[in-house]
Amino acid sequence: MRYIEPHGHMVSRTTDDYQAMVTAGCAAVCEPAFWAGFDRSGVQGFYDYFRQLTDYEPKRAAKFGLPHFCWLCINPKESEDMGLAKEVLAIIPEFLAQPTVLGIGEIGLNKNTRNEMSVLEWHVDLAARHDQLILVHTPHLEDKLKGTRLILDVIKADSRIRPERVIIDHVEEHTAGMVLDTGMWAGMTLYPESKCTPARAIDILETFGAERIWMNSACDWGISVPLAVPRTAVEMRRRGWDAARVEQVVFGNPAKFMGQSPRFKL
Ligand SMILES: [Zn+2]
Repeated sequence: MRYIEPHGHMVSRTTDDYQAMVTAGCAAVCEPAFWAGFDRSGVQGFYDYFRQLTDYEPKRAAKFGLPHFCWLCINPKESEDMGLAKEVLAIIPEFLAQPTVLGIGEIGLNKNTRNEMSVLEWHVDLAARHDQLILVHTPHLEDKLKGTRLILDVIKADSRIRPERVIIDHVEEHTAGMVLDTGMWAGMTLYPESKCTPARAIDILETFGAERIWMNSACDWGISVPLAVPRTAVEMRRRGWDAARVEQVVFGNPAKFMGQSPRFKL
């Protein structure tokens, strides 16, 4: 099997995880910028994080033969501080020139606040001005449906953004359809408990089809499984999916979306 991990927070993983992913057939890993599990004390914390994502982590992944790409932004959780957000957005352009940066992400909403909405709009504008792909994080649980609606409205309102260059991640049963209807891509995050379990993700694929949709493990600093994508691929085979259709979902789809950036080369 070959697959792509399109959304993995590798800075919080061990070398054992890298080895296991490569052994399972991982052909590339893509790492959006996100919350670190704690709030940074200032813009310098983000500067060093962006250096880690664009310089150190690709080198660490290369030791295991794994191409590593990244996305840059200030995450929605820390965007509540608009002064900090403004400072972080100002340093992003200098990193966009780095050879493994695919776009702006994971932007979006956390608690659907007014400040988060403003910072989301700034990021969409930044992506439009620099012709970047966009990767969006949607809120959890009771905030997800409303947050997803708000996010789709912000993106649709900017005529410079082509929908096929945007992926809305962490979709669930009640948000997958509304995302796909806009022409944007949808991502499903496979967590052991919250978000999508493998069984639910396959149900969603069988309900909404396997076009413009990917699966990822997130594999962050919380409880998560770096091999969730290949394990779900095994479960798809058990449920009767043929090998070619499984590969389309776990390899072909993420390769097609990220291949819209000239930087994504395997
Ligand atoms: Zn993430």
